[in-house]
Amino acid sequence: MASSLAVINCSQVVTLAGPAHPRVGPEMRELSIVVDGAMLVVGERIAKIGTREAMEPLIETSGVECEIIDAGGRVVTPGFVDAHTHPVFAGTRVEEFELRALGSTYQEIAARGGGIQSTVRATRAATLDELVTTGKRYADWFLRTGTTTVEAKSGYGLTLEDELKILRAIDRLGRETPLRYVPTFLGAHDIPPEYKSRREQYVSLIVDEMLPRVAQEKLAEYCDVFCEEQVFTNDESWKILTSARCHGLGLRVHADQLSLSGGAKLAAELGTVTADHLERTNTAGIQALKSAGVQPVLLPGSVYALGSSNYPAAREMIDAGLAVVLASDFNPGSSPTPSMTMIFSIAATQLRMTPAESITASTINAAHTLNRADQIGSLEPGKFADFVIHDCGDYRDLAYFFGIEHAWKVYAAGRLVFARR
Ligand SMILES: [Zn+2]
Repeated sequence: MASSLAVINCSQVVTLAGPAHPRVGPEMRELSIVVDGAMLVVGERIAKIGTREAMEPLIETSGVECEIIDAGGRVVTPGFVDAHTHPVFAGTRVEEFELRALGSTYQEIAARGGGIQSTVRATRAATLDELVTTGKRYADWFLRTGTTTVEAKSGYGLTLEDELKILRAIDRLGRETPLRYVPTFLGAHDIPPEYKSRREQYVSLIVDEMLPRVAQEKLAEYCDVFCEEQVFTNDESWKILTSARCHGLGLRVHADQLSLSGGAKLAAELGTVTADHLERTNTAGIQALKSAGVQPVLLPGSVYALGSSNYPAAREMIDAGLAVVLASDFNPGSSPTPSMTMIFSIAATQLRMTPAESITASTINAAHTLNRADQIGSLEPGKFADFVIHDCGDYRDLAYFFGIEHAWKVYAAGRLVFARR
């Protein structure tokens, strides 16, 4: 018989049980909370959730093997689903961070060979084992902040072999750590310096060599492109994404981050799963995403960490009926944080999203973009027991008290993967 555990004495079990579609509008504030709740887990899966009175008799008869976890009046939520991260890279960009504090801009630093290119140089020089070692450190950071699933992009290799190396590192991290990884191929993250004067050849390399190989080795579920006038134009992005679709990959796109370049419109025309960033997207772009059913993935951590104030129009997107997602954009350049609760704080103060909307955006709505909403993203019978016991009594505290980590115990597939002493 599979082992079972019962989580009892929870001030709130924030289940997010509800309709099977991504949550929009007022649905984003409906968390389906069980007050004074308990949860029974059998093996890797959730068996039942209910109030103390409803659950006590069940737990008593569930067998001698049942381990009792006393939450001590704390809040339980689903493990966070971080639908946009760049978690495999070598080195850091702490020098650039310091230069920006002294007044240099991201674009100036990139023009001097810094930015993404400096991480590309370091990552190309690193071995697969080295990338797995540093990746495990970051996996631990995600878990201890309550994130149990990450969408993980390549994109710091920009050669066939280096992109494969990063995707293989992601594959190993998924097997060697308790964190769930959903791999995305982002060979179109930047034009590598050796192709600057013949960029069309780099696009051909992606389409003719990288994508077929990534698909053949089943190293990615999604393909992403950094669509931006200075990076990949709309035409180039179109070419890469339509090719990726032919190889069976789902589509995501970095859109309208630095300029209103039409990325959101492109995402809508292609019917991508997500359009990410959207800091410059206007009302027409929002309407296009709505008509096409594209989910926006908002990344306020990168706006914050770059010292910018161009936050995306989250309120307008929610009011327009878009199924908004929040993610960390964890990466060494523009958003060096794995912390979803830090993102909640920025979302509340800068995007005017309520704590409830933030939780929906980083759990069930995020799971929908990864084609896993039937497995993760809410606490419902049959789903994986990926959950967090937070050291607070009200879920709103997760956004309100900032600069500390709330996760007290974190479980993935019914197994304890982090516990605070
Ligand atoms: Zn990104």
